[in-house]
Amino acid sequence: MKFEELNIIEPIMKALKEKGYEEPTPIQEKAIPKVLERKDVLGVAQTGTGKTAAFSIPIIQLIYNKDKQHKGKPILRSLIVTPTRELAIQIGENIREYSKNTFIRHAVIFGGVKQNEQVRAMKSGVHILVATPGRLLDLINQGFINLREVKLFVLDEADRMLDMGFIHDINKLIDLLPKQRQSLFFSATMPENIVSLSSKILNNPIKVEV
Ligand code: AMP
Repeated sequence: MKFEELNIIEPIMKALKEKGYEEPTPIQEKAIPKVLERKDVLGVAQTGTGKTAAFSIPIIQLIYNKDKQHKGKPILRSLIVTPTRELAIQIGENIREYSKNTFIRHAVIFGGVKQNEQVRAMKSGVHILVATPGRLLDLINQGFINLREVKLFVLDEADRMLDMGFIHDINKLIDLLPKQRQSLFFSATMPENIVSLSSKILNNPIKVEV
């Protein structure tokens, strides 16, 4: 299977070629078409399987197609929540590379550092926000982040999220998100509490397992 067969747009294809990706990984092959069809996806996959690209590439593409005529400040269309600062930075790096030939802008926010720069990024506007739960809720409560147009939500490493005690933060966040949205949920394992959380977030999901 080639990336071309997944109908990926030219600016992203170019970035993938420059990165040296030749073929999609199994999770990418299965998940990318479903995300592009606007389905909710339950992905059971570990780090190292290429899951970051499996959600980042179609998200960039959906926003690109939606906003290519849009002039003015970027609208926050997608929120990606992940448990740790390291994962957030890694996802941000991936998005930067896959979106480098597009107008898509993103920011990465996490706790343990001053918020000024993160607030500045939000004020200037981004299409995609990658965040850890605590700082995210903090900036939302301060009024710096508006979730009204977030129609693409990703919960990454859900099992780790719960192990780290983020369940209350996640529940609060879900209440703040628009009800009409597409959601992608990734977890390496599917114990009962994760199954229950996933059914709270997802609507008729396609299950993708690798
Ligand atoms: P992830 O599972 O998202 O952490 O990705 C694991 C590693 O695989 C990262 O270093 C990616 O840059 C790389 N990768 C992701 N997709 C592909 C692909 N289709 N071809 C080659 N490498 C890839």
